Amino acid sequence: MMPRCAICEVVSASQLCHGCQALIVPIDNPCQSCAKPIPDEQTLCGQCRQQPPPFSHTFCTTIYQSPVSLWVHELKFANRMDRAAVLAEAMAPMLAHVPLNVPLIPVPLHRQRLRHRGYNQAHEIARLIAKQQVRPLLSDVLLRRKNTAMQAELSEQERTANVRNAFAVNRSLAEPRVLLLDDVMTTGQTMQAASRCLLQAGVGRVDAVVFARSG
Ligand SMILES: [Zn+2]
Ligand SMILES: [Zn+2]
Repeated sequence: MMPRCAICEVVSASQLCHGCQALIVPIDNPCQSCAKPIPDEQTLCGQCRQQPPPFSHTFCTTIYQSPVSLWVHELKFANRMDRAAVLAEAMAPMLAHVPLNVPLIPVPLHRQRLRHRGYNQAHEIARLIAKQQVRPLLSDVLLRRKNTAMQAELSEQERTANVRNAFAVNRSLAEPRVLLLDDVMTTGQTMQAASRCLLQAGVGRVDAVVFARSG
């Protein structure tokens, strides 16, 4: 059988045909820290200038908007684990210049949500990128100890409280640098909490890796 585009099903050698690849619009001028879209003349957004996040840089493929937001939604809520391959293919090129000994760490789900969903979407994406790039994958060191409410359903203030102490590690980590991967970054609070936990465990530098950034 001819390989087909995972989205529109036209014949395509890669997961995404050129037409569907073009739907993934890169961010014009992302903040160098958190990837938020900012005016051309700036390198950091106001928030990162005021209070730099614990992660150093954010690799972000695109803006969280239709139709790519639908692919993420399908991956998380419609049992479409196959969408992880689409996101992984779109995200992998961003990491082409990151040394191959820098490991990927997926943002974990709490075991209750993992049981409910059946898989961790961030782990599926990270696993595919790690396999393709022959990059180490550390999927069992970072743990989610609180079954936090969905960040999207909360106010800014509630989000901060929601993720505080949400993460733990099960051993010390001497890695000079790691890539912390999630599907979407919204306020960045989850990434920040997970990064802080990794830095406290001995990691030298955390870079965030996400498929999409919301506004
Ligand atoms: Zn297509
Ligand atoms: Zn920023």
